Amino acid sequence: MVLKLINEVNPHPETIEDLPEAPISMPKIGSTGKTGNWRTFIPIIDYDNCINCKLCWLYCPEGSIFIRESDDFPEIDYDYCKGCGVCAQVCPKKCIDMKRAGIELEG
Ligand code: SF4
Ligand code: SF4
Repeated sequence: MVLKLINEVNPHPETIEDLPEAPISMPKIGSTGKTGNWRTFIPIIDYDNCINCKLCWLYCPEGSIFIRESDDFPEIDYDYCKGCGVCAQVCPKKCIDMKRAGIELEG
C-alpha cells in the first residue's frame, strides 16, 4: 500500500481514490439500541443524480450508510442515521437532500 503524503491529497475529492489512506470505523449495533429517532433532519439520496462515488458512505460518522449488494450503491440505514448532514455536505453531486424529520419515507 502506498500512503499519500498530505501535500499530495486532492483538496476537492470526488472519488475514494482522491482520498488519503485513513482508518474507517465499521458499523455495528449500538449499545443504546436504535438511535435514528434522535435526528431532526433526514438525508434523502437522489439516485437519479448519484454517481456512486461512495464518499457519503466513507464519511458518515455513524456508519449508517451501507453499500447495497444488489447494485453496489449506498443506502442509508434510518434506524441509526442521526441526521448530522455530513453525507450531504461531502456529496460532490449535491444529491443528498436534508429533509425535516417527520416526513414519510418511501419503502
Ligand atoms: S446524516 Fe449523518 S448520520 Fe445520517 S447518513 Fe448522513 S452522515 Fe450518516
Ligand atoms: S449520494 Fe453523493 S456522495 Fe453518496 S455515492 Fe452518490 S454521489 Fe457519492
